[in-house]
Amino acid sequence: MTRAEGKPVDVLIIGAGIAGASLSYFLSERGVSDVLVIERESQPGYHASGRSAATLVELDEIAELQKLKMLGARFLREPPAGFAESPLLERTGVLSLLREPQWSALRQVAVANRSAGLRFEPLTPREASERVGGVLLEDEVGAAAFLPDDGFIDIHELLTGYLRHAKRRGVEFRFGVEVGGIVREGGQCRGVATTAGLIRARRVVNAAGAWVGEIARTAGTTPIEFRPLRRSVAILPAPPDVDVRRWPMVWSDPHSVYFRPESGGLLFCPMDEVPMAPCDASPDEAIIAEGLERLRALAPALVPRTLGRRWAGLRTFSPDRVPVVGDDPALPGFFWLAGQGGCGIETSPALGRIAAELIADGKTTLFDAASLSPARFGAAAP
Ligand SMILES: Cc1cc2nc3c(=O)[nH]c(=O)nc-3n(C[C@H](O)[C@H](O)[C@H](O)COP(=O)(O)OP(=O)(O)OC[C@H]3O[C@@H](n4cnc5c(N)ncnc54)[C@H](O)[C@@H]3O)c2cc1C
Repeated sequence: MTRAEGKPVDVLIIGAGIAGASLSYFLSERGVSDVLVIERESQPGYHASGRSAATLVELDEIAELQKLKMLGARFLREPPAGFAESPLLERTGVLSLLREPQWSALRQVAVANRSAGLRFEPLTPREASERVGGVLLEDEVGAAAFLPDDGFIDIHELLTGYLRHAKRRGVEFRFGVEVGGIVREGGQCRGVATTAGLIRARRVVNAAGAWVGEIARTAGTTPIEFRPLRRSVAILPAPPDVDVRRWPMVWSDPHSVYFRPESGGLLFCPMDEVPMAPCDASPDEAIIAEGLERLRALAPALVPRTLGRRWAGLRTFSPDRVPVVGDDPALPGFFWLAGQGGCGIETSPALGRIAAELIADGKTTLFDAASLSPARFGAAAP
């Protein structure tokens, strides 16, 4: 008997990106394995999760995000035994370039950060440049902080780790099936209408990435204005005779660029945020070219004549740029796991576990649930 004909599934998750995958893992770890994940594409992680820069940068201006990243970092540094076949995190370090007032703000919270376990070392412009073969123009480096414990996440290993263990514990995944709408009966969410028929569920989780707003509209839930913002990425060949493979990531807020080693070259990002309807995003060549001009001001030796592969993805933000996790206040049975913005990979071990605890136990010991709840935006009229 198929799900469509049988009894309702306990938890139905829309989306097999990192959000849906991590939730399925943490639910099954808590013994909730009557879980069905529905994904429109033929493979997991096709959209934002497969296009990210996959970096852990714990420092964040938004306190909730920094806490979530630090929680996620613990898992990435020391995953449970048997979770992955190779390390999830390569601790290359992250070099953050700042100017005022961010630098003074960072120094003010330095002691609190250190006692919370976030190590960073202030560097002079010369020391900063030496970390990357002397390519940075020192006059362009206002202030620099080095985060030695951060680095690059093996996204493939992380995603397949979540999926493999969830499947082993009984979670079912269906690919190539699209959710067209939410089934609402008696003021409750009772399931979803899909291209493979109606599927009943006791709880539906909206983990649809850039499409979370569209899914919510079909359900008449709390109206939250999510904004999918496109971000482009390009691979730059390394300068001749420069070995970039062991460089840290360099993140410059003043120049709105970051770069890090990738496949012998550099993954370069112009840190664009272009509002866009949910779609299969393509890179913007003009925006990459403008970003390369800003890179030229900081590190002219890195600007190449020709570019390698380019791609883009959508980072989806809630109005306050903090993720939205929890039961909808107006529609029982409808749960949000949305708005991970630019940190959905590094925070996935934290957000997946928080969501699983809220679903399985009705509360979480890991985080202040109210700061993530959709109720902070007000409820829709019933
Ligand atoms: C260029 C770029 C760089 C980034 N860098 C980083 C970084 O360094 N570190 C970091 O932590 N994060 C980074 N991010 C952000 C991170 O990628 C996202 O926060 C994260 O991937 C969001 O995961 P998700 O599962 O919510 O969304 P997605 O991965 O987009 O997954 C949502 C899934 O839902 C499916 N879906 C949608 N609608 C339906 C439907 N109706 N029916 C069935 N399935 C549906 C989609 O097909 C999709 O597979 C970056 C993102 C981009 C684009």
